[in-house]
Amino acid sequence: MAESAAILASPGQTVMIPDTDAGCPMADMISAVDARAALAALDGILAAPAVPVTYMNSYADMKALTGERGGAVCTSGNAVKVMRHFLDAGRPVFFSPDCNLGINCSRALGVAHDRIFRIGRNGSIKGPGDPSRGLIFLWDGYCHVHTRFTPGDVAAARTRVPGITVIVHPECDCAVVEAADLSGSTEGIYEAVREGGPGSAWAIGTEANFVTRLASEFPDRGITPLRTSFCMNMAKTDLGTLEASISSITRHETGGSFLLHEIRVPPAERRDAATSLRLMMDITEGRV
Ligand code: SF4
Repeated sequence: MAESAAILASPGQTVMIPDTDAGCPMADMISAVDARAALAALDGILAAPAVPVTYMNSYADMKALTGERGGAVCTSGNAVKVMRHFLDAGRPVFFSPDCNLGINCSRALGVAHDRIFRIGRNGSIKGPGDPSRGLIFLWDGYCHVHTRFTPGDVAAARTRVPGITVIVHPECDCAVVEAADLSGSTEGIYEAVREGGPGSAWAIGTEANFVTRLASEFPDRGITPLRTSFCMNMAKTDLGTLEASISSITRHETGGSFLLHEIRVPPAERRDAATSLRLMMDITEGRV
């Protein structure tokens, strides 16, 4: 996210991150080198070249490769729309890094089971059909925070509170998404709970700190985590690291010390990554 802000920043704007260790283990599961090898393998078997669709939770090298190959970045909220854009143009999609988000979107798009394939981190291509007819190729990455939820958690929530609405993030396993009442991005979950109104009861399958924030913002709803699952990386950005970051700006402006911690993306990577981020915005806003 911080890299994306730096990629899209205007000249003269500086982007900082409070803690450089606040990465994403799922983003670590693919590099541009891995993706280039996977795309080269797909080029050898597909009639039309696969186009990369890369989840926002990825590093700048992946976004740059995506732009170089004519693809687009996506978020959990617009992934279906971005994938549909390329499928409608007759292009197979190479989706990374989150396999679960890719499967859940493919199902929402009605893509046949035998045209969806999984690409292992060793380069293996697995699926029930003939890969040369494949439409969706999913990199084998996942979010360990969201894969902790199970269909059993959904059943247990319904037993605890009959009539409860279960809503989960699409980074969850597709069996969990199928068992739930609803699935949505972080923003989608927020909006569903807001619109649910006072007295509504929710079991929420996403990162636990977000569920806690929802419960404090909407105390007149019954809000519980589907299971308590924390992201330790997201929690690294806290008031202390944010305060240190902001204080460094003040010191820097008065000629003091350096900025804590400025994000810099190499210019060539930045140009191609900006292309894939801007294409996402053009697709979601209907400009292409
Ligand atoms: S919850 Fe944590 S591990 Fe999962 S996608 Fe978000 S940052 Fe990455």
